[in-house]
Amino acid sequence: MQYTPAVDRYNSMTYNRCGKSGLQLPMISLGLWHNFGSIDNFENGRSIIRHAFDKGITHFDLANNYGPLAGSAEENFGRVLKQDFTGHLRDELIISTKAGYLMWPGPYGDKGSRKYLISSLDQSLRRMQLDYVDIFYSHRPDPETPIEETMGALHSIVQQGKALYVGLSNYTAEQTKQAVEVLKSLGTPCLIHQPKYSMFERWVENGLLDVLEANGVGCIPFSPLAQGLLTDRYLNGIPAGSRASKPSGFLQENEVTPEKIEKIKKLNAIAQKRGQSLAQMALAWILKDKRITTVLIGASSVAQLDNNLETLNNTTFAKEELTEIEAILA
Ligand code: NDP
Repeated sequence: MQYTPAVDRYNSMTYNRCGKSGLQLPMISLGLWHNFGSIDNFENGRSIIRHAFDKGITHFDLANNYGPLAGSAEENFGRVLKQDFTGHLRDELIISTKAGYLMWPGPYGDKGSRKYLISSLDQSLRRMQLDYVDIFYSHRPDPETPIEETMGALHSIVQQGKALYVGLSNYTAEQTKQAVEVLKSLGTPCLIHQPKYSMFERWVENGLLDVLEANGVGCIPFSPLAQGLLTDRYLNGIPAGSRASKPSGFLQENEVTPEKIEKIKKLNAIAQKRGQSLAQMALAWILKDKRITTVLIGASSVAQLDNNLETLNNTTFAKEELTEIEAILA
C-alpha cells in the first residue's frame, strides 16, 4: 500500500541538539541491528520504519554488518526508502552506518584502515541505494592502525561528500579524546559517540560522558534496554520469538540469569509505581542526563515502538526513586 507520512509527525517528538553541532536528533532513534535482516519478515520491518517516521523518529541507525545476512539490513532499508520515502523525504532523514567489525575475508574487510572504511562505505551506499549517509562511524577502535589514518579516512569521506558528519563507537574515554583532537585538527569535528549504555552497563559514567561534554560531542547510547532485558519481556522466562530465544539473536539464553531477573522484577515494581512500563523507565533513566542526545532503541514490533515512545511523557525522577534504583543495581 502507498505510504503517506503522517502530517502531524513532528508534533509529539522532542529534538535535542547533538553536542555543539547544528544537528538536532529525536530523543528516540531506531536501530536496525536485529529484526531487519534477510531472515526477518520484510513487511514487519517496513511497518516499524514507517511508523517510527510517522511518530517523529527521523534517525535510523545501521552498520555494514547488520542482518543476518551481513549487509541485508542495509539492503532492506534501501528497499523501504525506495518504496516509501520518495520525493524530498530523504531530506527529513538522518541515516547512519558504520564499519569496523569483520565484513569480508582478507586483511581489508575489518578494523580501522583507510582501505577498509572507504570501500565499506561505498558498499553500504550501494546496498542502501543512497548518494550519501548523514553520519558515518568508525564502529570500534583499532589500536593497530594509527589513529591519524582512521580519522583521516573519516575526514576524507566527508570531503568526498559520502557522509555529512562522522562519529565514533565503542571508543574508550582516552581513545575518544585522542580521536576528537585528530578530527579537530583535520577540520572535521566529531559529531557523536555511540557507546553501550543502560542501567546494567554503566562504563560511560566513568569518564566518557565528561570527555564528550568537554568537547561538544553528542551521545547516542545503544542497547539502552540491555537487548530487551530491561523490559517485561523476560519477567516469566524466555518467550518464543524473543531475541534470547533465537539462534541469530545476540542476547544469549545464559545471560538471562536468575540474579538479573530478580533485579528486573524489582525495577519493574518501581516502574509500575511511576505509571510506566519498565522499558519506559529504563529509557527515561538514560535520558535524564542532559549529556545524552538520544537513545538508540531496537524493536521487533510496532507495539514495542509505541510503548517506548510513551517514555517521552515522563522523563523525570524523584530523588527517592533514583536512590531506590541505585540500591537495586548495586
Ligand atoms: P535495545 O536494548 O533497545 O533492545 C531492543 C530489543 O528489546 C527489541 O528487539 C525487543 O526484543 C526488546 N524490546 C524493545 N522495546 C520493548 C518493549 N517496549 N517491550 C518489550 N520488549 C521490548 O537495543 P538493541 O540491542 O536492539 O540495539 C539498538 C540499536 O543500537 C541497534 O539496532 C544498533 O543500531 C545499535 N547498536 C550498536 C552497536 C555498536 O557497536 N555501535 C552494538 C549494538 C547495537 P525482542 O526482539 O525480543 O522482541
